[in-house]
Amino acid sequence: MNVLVINCGSSSLKYQLIDSESEAVLAKGLCERIGIDGRLVYQKAGLDKEITDAPMPSHKEAIQLVLDALTNDKTGAIKSLKEVDAIGHRVVHGGEKFASSAVITDDMIKAIEECNELAPLHNPANLIGIRVCQELMPGVPNVAVFDTAFHQTMPPKAYLYGLPVEYYNKYKVRRYGFHGTSHSFVSKRAIEFLGLDKDNSKVIVCHLGNGSSISAVVNGKCVDTTMGLTPLEGLIMGTRSGNIDPAIMEYVGKKENLDLAGIMNVLNKKSGLLGLSGGVSSDMRDLEAAAEGGNQNARNALDVLAYQVTKFVGGYVAAMNGVDAIVFTAGIGENDGNLRKAVVANLGYLGICLDEDANKKRGEDIVISTPDSKVKVAVIPTNEELAICRDTVALVK
Ligand code: AMP
Repeated sequence: MNVLVINCGSSSLKYQLIDSESEAVLAKGLCERIGIDGRLVYQKAGLDKEITDAPMPSHKEAIQLVLDALTNDKTGAIKSLKEVDAIGHRVVHGGEKFASSAVITDDMIKAIEECNELAPLHNPANLIGIRVCQELMPGVPNVAVFDTAFHQTMPPKAYLYGLPVEYYNKYKVRRYGFHGTSHSFVSKRAIEFLGLDKDNSKVIVCHLGNGSSISAVVNGKCVDTTMGLTPLEGLIMGTRSGNIDPAIMEYVGKKENLDLAGIMNVLNKKSGLLGLSGGVSSDMRDLEAAAEGGNQNARNALDVLAYQVTKFVGGYVAAMNGVDAIVFTAGIGENDGNLRKAVVANLGYLGICLDEDANKKRGEDIVISTPDSKVKVAVIPTNEELAICRDTVALVK
């Protein structure tokens, strides 16, 4: 079965065509600057990337260009659209309505629309992608895979905030969590790869990338996660602040003459590693280079991230009353051995011993703890597109 995986952002769109039997990526790429001018990146497996500037006034033209590239006579991965058997869409927010992926129906579209308020930048773009695919490929089943779904197993003590309960009752203000497709994929793979008992396992997944979140997973089910109502909560991220004292918003707002929208802009786009490093960069590679060159702000940003990851991991060990495995994934988690080493340095009390040589390897599932370590530590590359493909196949087969 060939599955087209679509991840629509507000002005961009990522796609992959995957053969679900072999799980090989037949072609992949992205559309950028949708609604501005438009650029299509297309890469058939085994061939070089093709980059084409092409007008994309809306997502409809963008998806049409992707379909044209996929079926192109010369470099297309398939002969005709008849070879696309199903489409899997990433949908960011499923609210409390969706605890798992689902085949898209008219009622489902309405239910997703009702979650738009919770993710105003993402859900409307995801819905546009769904509608355009329905129009351009009638009869092909579409499946929605939600970022929030995996976290719906959290108990109320983990998802309720210490706010007047009517905000939850009336507006569903609660912790939802994000990166669920990644946390689900990586925790499942960890159980398999590390030979843990699926029904008796405690795993902590550290998804550390430009956006970062950690989850605590007991017997394959999420019991807590660091992101909240929105992806702003939790760890310090590339440009997002993560947790702060909420009173800072009023205090800084008055000093800097910023309204709430201005403050939110600072918290989402000017904070995190970028802000704390004094504008050096939101990227770990730049920060490590700057810190090595003696930049103290960059050093502080790196230390804060490692310290926060350690604290959340320690908190989740307490919440789960133990841990069998700690797993690192995403851009930073998969590539940054220094960060991993700094995080586990203070987890020696759990009987964790890092294998320094293994910690230097990259690009594969790998155990980075020593054989006598009481808790296994591993790096498992995430693959959200493959997870979306698998869910799609499971639902449409
Ligand atoms: P993601 O959002 O998962 O794509 O992760 C992106 C982030 O991963 C970048 O902003 C970098 O901070 C980080 N990253 C990528 N490659 C490396 C690397 N080789 N070493 C350290 N950090 C990396």
